[in-house]
Amino acid sequence: DASAMVNRYFDEAAELVGIGPEVATVLKTSYREMDVQLPVHLESGHLAVYRGYRVQHNGARGPYKGGIRFHPTADLAEVRALASLMTWKTALMDLPFGGAKGGITVDPSELNLHELEQLTRRFTLAISHVLGVNRDIPAPDVNTNGQVMAWMMDAYSSRMGYTPAIVTGKPLDLGGAPGREAATGRGVVFVLEAATAHWRIDVSRLTVAIQGFGNVGSWVARDLYAKGIKVVGVTDVSGGLYNAGGLDILALVDQVAAGTPLVEASGGDVIDNDQIFTLACDVVIPAALGEVITTDNAASIQASIIIEAANNPTTPAADKMLGDAGKRVIPDILANAGGVTGSYFEWAQNIQQFRWPEDRFNTELLTAMQAATHATLAFAELHDVTMRRAAFAIGIERVTRASKLRGYI
Ligand code: NAD
Repeated sequence: DASAMVNRYFDEAAELVGIGPEVATVLKTSYREMDVQLPVHLESGHLAVYRGYRVQHNGARGPYKGGIRFHPTADLAEVRALASLMTWKTALMDLPFGGAKGGITVDPSELNLHELEQLTRRFTLAISHVLGVNRDIPAPDVNTNGQVMAWMMDAYSSRMGYTPAIVTGKPLDLGGAPGREAATGRGVVFVLEAATAHWRIDVSRLTVAIQGFGNVGSWVARDLYAKGIKVVGVTDVSGGLYNAGGLDILALVDQVAAGTPLVEASGGDVIDNDQIFTLACDVVIPAALGEVITTDNAASIQASIIIEAANNPTTPAADKMLGDAGKRVIPDILANAGGVTGSYFEWAQNIQQFRWPEDRFNTELLTAMQAATHATLAFAELHDVTMRRAAFAIGIERVTRASKLRGYI
């Protein structure tokens, strides 16, 4: 399962920094796992019963932090793995947070807005006793957005008093931070620019293919397009488009916002979702779900750089194939860390009751993403290991030090 994948990456890095088996057991397993029942009266009259999860993986360095996913395949095992990734990600970024993740096993497209709101409120109240501004702060992930965060904030505040800092990724009217919505995708582009500059690759000449056109994928595409970098292919769950000359991303964003499915939009040739990773291009960016680059398709990837905007997109066996083929894989815990870094900026602003202008947000984000990219590359070169192993090792060392200082291990 997904935890086995993450723990495999953990073990390879832990060995490098000399973590013994007992400490490794503490660091690999979660601190607390909530698995809650969520009954919702649907408008059809049917009483549907969903399951929701919140996994708090490690809190050595600060309050638990991580997104909430609404998806039919979201289950405790997946949420557990994603929570662990958050621990290594926040530590790599040197943010004052631990790692968590949440989810509900549900296909939200089958619910109307009112039902989705009831489900979100039920879930928030069910886990509210383990949340807190200094305890655990959720954020958006797959199929959740600012509106879902607004309902969560309202449900929590109804019990505890007005508490905007309890979630991040909120709408601007409720204390959201200008820049947060774009931050994950923008951070992916900052990391790509910093890494390619280090490798002396001219980023402006690269061609890019992106899987996923939701929050993360569409912002990656927009920022690449704004910088004049050609996005030749994009897909979402329905399929997508290819144009060797570069897609007009702003036109695509407008069409999708107006309700046109990506596959029916104009501007390129229709491709199906499996083709996205095999396109002739320089960079592929998974920005949808996990475990999509496997031994079945890794050999057919033509791109020389894979930058993981999605969490956990590459299986360890596929990762090894890519490495053996001389490809550069920029790992999820670095590549998509702009999201949690932007969430940290939002949380800090909420606590201070002070709003930064968007240009300050973007400048701080750039500084943070460049620093983490340079630290990862320096560690990787010093120890002659992959960027993934380096990124995990930096995170593991920091969490271990904090846990020891606190007397937890
Ligand atoms: P989203 O719900 O906004 O978008 C998901 C996109 O993936 C949609 O375009 C959807 O059509 C597409 N998709 C779904 N199933 C697919 C499939 N089987 N094949 C191809 N495409 C498919 O979600 P998001 O917030 O953009 O998250 C995407 C990824 O980025 C996830 O792995 C998430 O964990 C990760 N991530 C998100 C954030 C954030 O701030 N939102 C931060 C860090 C990492």
